[in-house]
Amino acid sequence: EENGCKIILENGGLKVVRGSLVVMKGVRHRNLYTLMGETVTGDLAVGINRSKDQTECTRMWHMRLGHMSEKGLSLLGEKGLLKNMEKPCMEFCEHCVYGKAHRLRFSSSKHKSRGILDYVHTDVWGPAPVTSKGGSRYFVTYVDDHSRYAWIYFLKHKNEVFDNFKCWKAMVENRTGRKLKTLRSDNGTEYTDGAFKRFCDQEGIVRHWTVRGTPQQNGVAERLNRTLLEKARCMRSNSGLGREWWAESVATASYVVNRSPHSSLGGDTPYKDMQKESMVIDFGV
Ligand SMILES: [Zn+2]
Repeated sequence: EENGCKIILENGGLKVVRGSLVVMKGVRHRNLYTLMGETVTGDLAVGINRSKDQTECTRMWHMRLGHMSEKGLSLLGEKGLLKNMEKPCMEFCEHCVYGKAHRLRFSSSKHKSRGILDYVHTDVWGPAPVTSKGGSRYFVTYVDDHSRYAWIYFLKHKNEVFDNFKCWKAMVENRTGRKLKTLRSDNGTEYTDGAFKRFCDQEGIVRHWTVRGTPQQNGVAERLNRTLLEKARCMRSNSGLGREWWAESVATASYVVNRSPHSSLGGDTPYKDMQKESMVIDFGV
């Protein structure tokens, strides 16, 4: 009832409706009404009932995928990756207006590197105005230029960046069997630190520098951070969570972004490029 649903009993049947949409149907056997289909609970239940209501379904996927654009939904939908959604039919979303109000666009850089780990962009964001639930105030991202796959780590202090970089490098080289060749970052003190520089020299990693505060130069990493923060803001606005959940919402956003179509990959997803396999997004519904 609090979702605006009504129950109608007529012609030996039972219907739960919301507006003009039939949410559930039942038939009468003697004195009992048996519901048809499966029961789904929660706010989003309406969208996935076999009603094929594309608007509701679009809204649900839009919310689940961190407020993905209609274009992105359409690309995933065409590939049959979104359950029950064929063609997106987007309605006005107030959370998008709130979360994405400060969007700045820079010309997107062309995808030049040949292989995974040939060129990696990195950037640190913070300090956050509010300490996260897990006690973090910063996050560092590594974006592989070839696949656009992004790794994200939350830090309590900026001086954890170097150790984090060494661990990330070991993990990613081990997993992919490839070597990190070039690292692009701004000239923040966490990157210009002597130990960091020496480590890169020893490992044969070429450094590319950008000037801090000019996002045009370090486009990829800074743009990603902005996208993650925007998506996180949309999701928090949507779910009514406070700012202390910023790290959790940013982590969710990065999960979604790795599985979202990317313009520089011709609509493919970074995850697919990294894993070389397609995947159907299914949240167990
Ligand atoms: Zn939205």
